[in-house]
Amino acid sequence: IPVVAIVGRPNIGKSTIFNRVIGDRVSIVEDKPGVTRDRIYGTGEWLNRHFHLIDTGGIEVGDEPLLQMMRHQAELAIDEADVIIFMVNGREGITAADEEVANMLFRSNKPVVIAVNKVDNFEMRDLMYEFYSLGFGDLYPISGTHGLGLGDMLDRVLELAPDKEDIEYDEDTIKFALVGRPNVGKSSMTNSILGEERVIVSSIAGTTRDAIDTPFSRDEQEYVIIDTAGMRKRGKVYESTERFSVMRAQKAIERADVVCVVLDGEEGIIEQDKKVAGYAHEAGRAIVIVVNKWDAVEKDDKTMKKMEEEIREEFRFLDYAPIVFVSAKTKRRLQTLLPVIKQAAKSHAQRIQTSVLNDVIVDAVAMNPAPTDKGVRLRINYATQVASRPPTFVLFVNDPELLHFSYKRYLDNRIREAFDFTGTPIRILARQKQ
Ligand code: GDP
Repeated sequence: IPVVAIVGRPNIGKSTIFNRVIGDRVSIVEDKPGVTRDRIYGTGEWLNRHFHLIDTGGIEVGDEPLLQMMRHQAELAIDEADVIIFMVNGREGITAADEEVANMLFRSNKPVVIAVNKVDNFEMRDLMYEFYSLGFGDLYPISGTHGLGLGDMLDRVLELAPDKEDIEYDEDTIKFALVGRPNVGKSSMTNSILGEERVIVSSIAGTTRDAIDTPFSRDEQEYVIIDTAGMRKRGKVYESTERFSVMRAQKAIERADVVCVVLDGEEGIIEQDKKVAGYAHEAGRAIVIVVNKWDAVEKDDKTMKKMEEEIREEFRFLDYAPIVFVSAKTKRRLQTLLPVIKQAAKSHAQRIQTSVLNDVIVDAVAMNPAPTDKGVRLRINYATQVASRPPTFVLFVNDPELLHFSYKRYLDNRIREAFDFTGTPIRILARQKQ
């Protein structure tokens, strides 16, 4: 699907617009440590068309002077996006930085839409005319604070966006991604998994331009490894930033069934690892935790167990994710990875028969009824699985408000005891019974 990037000077309202367009898709259904709410990458929808949106302002490269920073943002937008929204401040007029960015965008030949922000009412429309001199044609007056003009702007953006759909793979093909911060060994692992097949099977340049898919088969199972070109083509200033690598990870997560969160066994867990894992969890993907560089770790018979305990402690929200220890370099234990990915994909796609599910729920309730809340008790009339990937269950109840977090957790555990959901999150929703 097309990628749209927003560029513009700091503090002119880019993230307000970003949030309005993406909407609040981050549902706060449980406490998830390590998950940031300040996103720079998300998926939007307008008139039934989907697109990815990047707020380049979220990628800061240290303490750069303004012009330098703007150059990097524009560079990023030019590299990553199909359409660029260039946002300017209607109340300030054209600045030197605006001109600089305009020149870069102009030379790139990318489609550009100029959004003049802070045009809060009709009388203020006169403010925007000077921006015609930037040379991009139509101007779109918008107001982030009032949410005005966004529809017209998005109409134009999508008019300019190339019509590209994601590649469709066979239902049974397992799409997986290796994500993690720079230098944990993602590229090495990709190469080690693919081995010589990489030369035989040529990679398909994804429709999302920079996503590279490599299909391969192993033990009669088809896989696609989703990689991002940015991991190989290095050198751009912004590519070394944490925010950029998180964005890359998000991009891969969106297209994958199974996300392998790669950790560096030598260096241990850092905050950024949790962030990436948090996104994969939120996105409802199956997850496998992969500890790489195990060859370089000095070990005794307790080292693995200790590391496992540390991971469980740090990634409490991923208690369903299996942990695999490998070395991409020596390939030791690497052969254990694909079977675990396969199992996670199977759990992720699993469908449970309604009658069997209801037996489990009835038993669970009989064993441990929901506590009363102001004298009222949750009553579950009926449960059914409404979706897979991830498995999503709806409980029809007397009052959805009565399904508290702890009881949901209890039911989650009971469902997991009854069925093998290793590697996948499951979602439990409550609806008022009709
Ligand atoms: P990426 O940025 O996550 O793609 O990481 P790379 O694959 O480029 O690896 C970063 C560095 O870690 C390179 O110097 C690799 O040789 C090294 N490395 C990768 N995997 C392993 C491993 O399993 N063991 C050891 N000892 N080093 C590794």
